[in-house]
Amino acid sequence: MKRSVEQLLRPDILGMAAYKVADATGYIKLDAMENPYRLPPELRRELGRRLADVLINRYPDPAGSQLKQDLAQAFAIPSGAAILLGNGSDEIITLLTQAVATPGAKVMALEPSFVMYRMNAQFSRIEYLSVPLNSDFSLNLPLTLEQIRQHQPEVIFIAYPNNPTGNRFQRHEVEAILDAATGLVVVDEAYQAFADDSFMDLVGQVDNLLVMRTLSKLGMAGIRLGYAASTPAWIEALNKVRPPYNVNVLTQETARFLLEHRAVFDQQALELRQERTRLSACLSTFDGLTQFASEANFITVRVSDADHLFAHFKQAKILIKNLHGSHPLLAQCLRITVGSPDENDAVLAALTAYFD
Ligand code: PMP
Repeated sequence: MKRSVEQLLRPDILGMAAYKVADATGYIKLDAMENPYRLPPELRRELGRRLADVLINRYPDPAGSQLKQDLAQAFAIPSGAAILLGNGSDEIITLLTQAVATPGAKVMALEPSFVMYRMNAQFSRIEYLSVPLNSDFSLNLPLTLEQIRQHQPEVIFIAYPNNPTGNRFQRHEVEAILDAATGLVVVDEAYQAFADDSFMDLVGQVDNLLVMRTLSKLGMAGIRLGYAASTPAWIEALNKVRPPYNVNVLTQETARFLLEHRAVFDQQALELRQERTRLSACLSTFDGLTQFASEANFITVRVSDADHLFAHFKQAKILIKNLHGSHPLLAQCLRITVGSPDENDAVLAALTAYFD
């Protein structure tokens, strides 16, 4: 007699819900921190021509050597560092967690933060320790250091700036964590294009530092490319769990093409920062709303009834992210991605209609 899925599956997986992505058809999509701008038409045509020549009958270069060189040059990755490519930085989180998953291993993250740190710990059956942030989402350094000393986690994930709160912790706090940690500290710089600081310059010099980045927020979420920079020893170790052809030929070639036109994306990131400043100034005029300082391409706000405002946005055909219920510190919070000027105007118009 055949056994059912329920009989075969790990009970903890059976009880889980898959990562939910809302259907955004017909909405202004401001729920996932994407870049609202497309490539200029002439670059789109040029990219099409470049991709036409890619050898899709062959497996990709498993090491992605040329792309790594381009990334190192484009993003000032220190020469003493080694690089790992991932199918999005999501995959790098998976590889990191798998690589340290010995019985008794522990992964630590600050909360609220990116949910995939917790989910991957569960997938790899690793103990997950969360250290709560303060209620203003700043880092509780004494508590974090105490928890590190007590539990000595194999890996600590720090999103810098943090998602879904938007703030960047203080540099000296992350440095104190790097000092105190006996394991690897992953500084997840997914939002680096919109932030005023980075740990990339220390990669290769500080043995227990890994900086993780992604091209997703820069305007290339569709190609799924993340990268990690760390000491050669860590990158060699992670390569052992990496599927050999994890970054496909189209992604590798597209990324290389886009990096040749990096100025286009830098300009878009600059415009999004300016829009963030404008949106933030306008948000401060609504009495019923508190916003949290952001160094990312989104702004997190708190209102008196997040479900109600979320529904109002939906009615206005704008999709944002309702954070209420996802963590106690995120009670009545919503996350709004910074979009194009027109999209942000639509957000402000919806808020004006709501609060007036
Ligand atoms: N890290 C953080 C902090 C994120 O917010 C995200 C995506 N929202 C990721 C990593 C994953 O990004 P990607 O897989 O697109 O590279």
